[in-house]
Amino acid sequence: EERYDKGLEKSREGFGAKLNALFANFRSVDEDFFEELEETLIEADVGFDVAMKISEALREEVKLQNAKKQDDVSKVIVQKLVEIYEAEGQDENNALNYAAEGPTVMLFVGVNGVGKTTTIGKLAHRYQTEGKKVLMVAADTFRAGAIQQLVEWGKRVDVPVVAKPEKSDPASVVFDAVQKAKQEDYDIVLVDTAGRLQNKVNLMKELEKISRVITREIPDGPHEVLLALDATTGQNALIQAKQFQEVTQVTGIVLTKLDGTARGGIVLAIRNDLHIPVKLVGLGEKMDDLRDFNPEEFVYGLFK
Ligand code: GDP
Repeated sequence: EERYDKGLEKSREGFGAKLNALFANFRSVDEDFFEELEETLIEADVGFDVAMKISEALREEVKLQNAKKQDDVSKVIVQKLVEIYEAEGQDENNALNYAAEGPTVMLFVGVNGVGKTTTIGKLAHRYQTEGKKVLMVAADTFRAGAIQQLVEWGKRVDVPVVAKPEKSDPASVVFDAVQKAKQEDYDIVLVDTAGRLQNKVNLMKELEKISRVITREIPDGPHEVLLALDATTGQNALIQAKQFQEVTQVTGIVLTKLDGTARGGIVLAIRNDLHIPVKLVGLGEKMDDLRDFNPEEFVYGLFK
């Protein structure tokens, strides 16, 4: 699909091309074929379990459909990738959540450098373009430069930023922001937070305090707690996600920098291992390089 034309080139050239090569040299569906397939999938970071599931599913399918031609086999694989992704997430909430009325508050968590601030800037731009009233909140008061970086995004996309000096209490910044959002009828409030996994207890307390401040003003908020993960870090991203799940209730994942990796399969591993839906993907550094995640379009994007 169009939406993933740009940004998935690396995965397409890596993951997609390897699978396509496997099909091109395809003679028959034998043990060698399945072994190579499993290897390719694991290299693309889909994870061992998912690789085995796909391989198993394909063995079954080949038996049933008698799919022995190259085209049939590749079709079955694409179909299975989508099916496995969707089956794992059947009962989960895959779309972004919004407030029934009043401001929608989205918290962003994740370690430094994964692309949190950039994602907030891109999302602010999206909502702004849709005609919504958007507010960004610099509640990462810990990392030097984080506030300034968000302020710069604010200028770039023409969205106001609530900020206080470095080392201020993040919850007090959020307090100011939610008050402002309510009084001035903002639609969307995007909150940047500090992702210091080094001190999990502090991080947990900080996020709890931020959530309490939000809930006091906006009882059904925060409406999303989105964890940003850097796709180029592969299996490390999974480890980070598990750690964040221990400190807060993550409602969705933003998978950033998918344009910078050939291992687009990480999307499947995340779904399979963590049961958190990938809601957004980052496909570049610019304000337009953010997409809603759609498994079918994504998988087809890998095989163009
Ligand atoms: P934060 O510390 O989590 O807030 O991370 P930043 O938003 O500052 O991003 C860190 C770096 O990653 C910056 O140089 C961004 O331009 C870059 N970045 C963020 N998202 C993407 C993406 O989707 N693709 C690419 N190629 N770079 C990205």
